[in-house]
Amino acid sequence: MDRKFYVRTFGCQMNEHDSERLATDLQAAGLERTDRLDEADVVVLNTCCIRENADNKLYGHLGHLKSLQARRPGMQIAVGGCLAQKDREALLERAPFVDVVFGTHNVHRAHALLEAARAEGRSQLEVLDAPSDDPDALPSATLVRPELVHSAWVTIQVGCDNSCAFCIVPSVRGPEQSRPFGDLVDEVAALAASGTSEVTLLGQNVNSYGRDLTTRLRADGGAHADLAHLAGPGWVEEGASRPRPLFADLLRAVGGVPGIRRVRFTSPHPKDLRPETIAAMASTPAVCEQLHLPLQSGSDTVLATMRRGYTAERYLERLAAARAAIDDLAVTTDVIVGFPGETDDDFEATLEVVAAARYDSAFTFVFSPRPGTRAAAMTDRLVPDGVVAERFERLRVVVERSALQANEARLGRIEEVVVEGPSRKDPSVLAGRTRQGKLCHFPLVEAERLAGGAPAGSYGTVEVVTAAPHHLTGRLRTLEPPGPAGPVSASRRRSIPVQVG
Ligand code: SF4
Repeated sequence: MDRKFYVRTFGCQMNEHDSERLATDLQAAGLERTDRLDEADVVVLNTCCIRENADNKLYGHLGHLKSLQARRPGMQIAVGGCLAQKDREALLERAPFVDVVFGTHNVHRAHALLEAARAEGRSQLEVLDAPSDDPDALPSATLVRPELVHSAWVTIQVGCDNSCAFCIVPSVRGPEQSRPFGDLVDEVAALAASGTSEVTLLGQNVNSYGRDLTTRLRADGGAHADLAHLAGPGWVEEGASRPRPLFADLLRAVGGVPGIRRVRFTSPHPKDLRPETIAAMASTPAVCEQLHLPLQSGSDTVLATMRRGYTAERYLERLAAARAAIDDLAVTTDVIVGFPGETDDDFEATLEVVAAARYDSAFTFVFSPRPGTRAAAMTDRLVPDGVVAERFERLRVVVERSALQANEARLGRIEEVVVEGPSRKDPSVLAGRTRQGKLCHFPLVEAERLAGGAPAGSYGTVEVVTAAPHHLTGRLRTLEPPGPAGPVSASRRRSIPVQVG
């Protein structure tokens, strides 16, 4: 009988993507995925150290797994992700029953380490300090969810060269490392050939995609055997005289792949949102009218302490430029409340910017010190909990107001949706996404009447009939069947050379 594995993911989309990669690797090695912890032979925790008390929560989970392991001899436990990258040996000292500890740079090694642990009968620890030169080390595409063959994540870059005071990513993911341009376009073409019509380009700072590649090319005098594959045809035509990174070129190239109907990306850093990127978004029909632009704070003082590299005014200027160029642009953001030293005036400035930005939605976070970051040392300036809670609620009200207004503005409009499947709460209702990334519900019975049903990946149009802050409901007008579908098999994943020259 096949061994089964269970993956629990904590944290961001990058971690979710890593987990899907890992699951693909384990499935390719013959293991079967399960959603039931109690029947798993291998349990993988893909950790995140962003949240407060992440350490305590991890060791709490591990305590539970230890008793499960005692009842199921042979069950293996693997811990990966940011906390594993940070704690390394300390993790095994605290939880010696863990079989494998792997880091953020060697997710692709998890299965080999699990096998080594079984063969040798002892724990395996492998955490790399920097991205590896191994061509398999950089992620390739994975489906957003295994059941959604139409939608895939494509990592274009790992790591980050910025130094935001609240963020642990640069220390656990390392410096920016971009995947070669041609690999990405080829990969998206392969995805499209197997039924994927929507790709989300992932990176910590997608706007600077390619900066490391072109910096190395300049240092090498531009010599490379296959320049177009590495940096794209635009670089070959214009060469080293071109100062900008390659993200705009990549958007155009990926958006031009036959069969790709929707291109999204996350996250762009506001300081690096260049006019060329906005122009590429506006002129590439497949690029969705959606922009996630993390604000974090509307106070210039707080932004400077955070080391964000922009002012509120500059942020709003870039947002206005994007809105002017791209019709019907939906904008979302991230905001941190209670960053150390945030005064009442600072928070009022944030509320003003949030109101002016008219977000379609926002991820709002209460500041929590993350060990290893600059902000974690600012304990003398922490904002009292009661003040933070009150600010958080005021921010929520402002965001919900603009979210509702943005959705109400869509009433009566015809929207393109791609079907994701039945609603979790009500199977008589189908859930779809509009081009702006908005969740839209509509009755299953209408899909059955029009086309006998609507499998995930079907495109249709709905007339919006009600609007709430977080979703729309609609009446289905048209429906087309999904394209040729098929999962992204491990054998079709590409090896990714990351070295220049
Ligand atoms: S840009 Fe800032 S917040 Fe984003 S990953 Fe880099 S350091 Fe972290």
